[in-house]
Amino acid sequence: MELNRRNFLKISGAIAAAPLIKGGKSANAAQKPKQSENLYGCLVDTTLCVGCRKCEEACNKRHNLAKPNESFEEKAVLEKERRPDETSYTVINKYYQKNIGSLTWRTKPTFVKFQCMHCNDPSCVSACIVGALTKTGKGPVVYDAKKCIGCRYCMVACPFQIPAYEYNNPLTPEVMKCTFCFEYINDGKLPACAQVCPMEVIVFGKKTEILDLARNRIKKKKGKYVEHIYGEKEVGGTSWIYLASEPFDKIGLPKLDHKAPPRLTETIQHGLFKYFAAPIALFSTLGLIMLTTNFLKGSDKSNKKENNKDL
Ligand code: SF4
Ligand code: SF4
Ligand code: SF4
Repeated sequence: MELNRRNFLKISGAIAAAPLIKGGKSANAAQKPKQSENLYGCLVDTTLCVGCRKCEEACNKRHNLAKPNESFEEKAVLEKERRPDETSYTVINKYYQKNIGSLTWRTKPTFVKFQCMHCNDPSCVSACIVGALTKTGKGPVVYDAKKCIGCRYCMVACPFQIPAYEYNNPLTPEVMKCTFCFEYINDGKLPACAQVCPMEVIVFGKKTEILDLARNRIKKKKGKYVEHIYGEKEVGGTSWIYLASEPFDKIGLPKLDHKAPPRLTETIQHGLFKYFAAPIALFSTLGLIMLTTNFLKGSDKSNKKENNKDL
């Protein structure tokens, strides 16, 4: 797909080639990330999705992920709700919404693409004590495996249950999640999933522009959409936003507070550190005593050695 396709909103030459991964942070320095005016995002219009899974396939290829057991042509997998995992940074789920008693009325289903939402104020970033996750100025929340210590706080903190872990890789396990194809974005290209989508479900562009687009679609097609842009306000806003014709909590997108949760995770994290302080002081004292004792023992041993030599 070329850059002038409709699913791309003014990617403009303004996207700097500067690397997106920034330096780490100290354990208690998780600050509210600065929001760039050049924040990018994607609008996912679920009303257009036909569940072809081409986005899943493109993402899998782009990131050299392990091939799934079933081919990407297989649509039966859509019948069971899935979450992104270490082999799939994005998944499509299928929802039928008309319930009559215990029966499900099989009308036209809604297909929903899930991936990391690239939150404006991400809990995963806040929870990571070594700064392995970073919210970049252009939107992507990126991961640096070199800094990761495998604590998996990010997995617990994420309100969307996105980060996965390579449990099958005991030597060099990594946290796995959608990267927002940040290298492509830096090169002025579309994310791999947006490039291949035949229905133009995924519209990439400046966050302000995709929000305007979403508002216009709701306004122009009264009754087609629920009057809510998911991700505009949830958890303080997300780079990926959604339109739908069904209530979002019925199609797998959780009802969440408008307040970003990082402040909460920081409180927990800082609490942990506060309570670590006493043991650290204790261990330091014990360490000092052990060192002194060993040193004395060592001196004693060396004295003995010396003494033995003398014998
Ligand atoms: S969706 Fe989860 S993993 Fe993605 S940025 Fe938000 S908190 Fe982090
Ligand atoms: S933005 Fe990239 S990493 Fe994320 S779902 Fe799309 S193709 Fe996968
Ligand atoms: S490629 Fe587009 S139409 Fe096909 S499943 Fe993905 S989002 Fe839906």
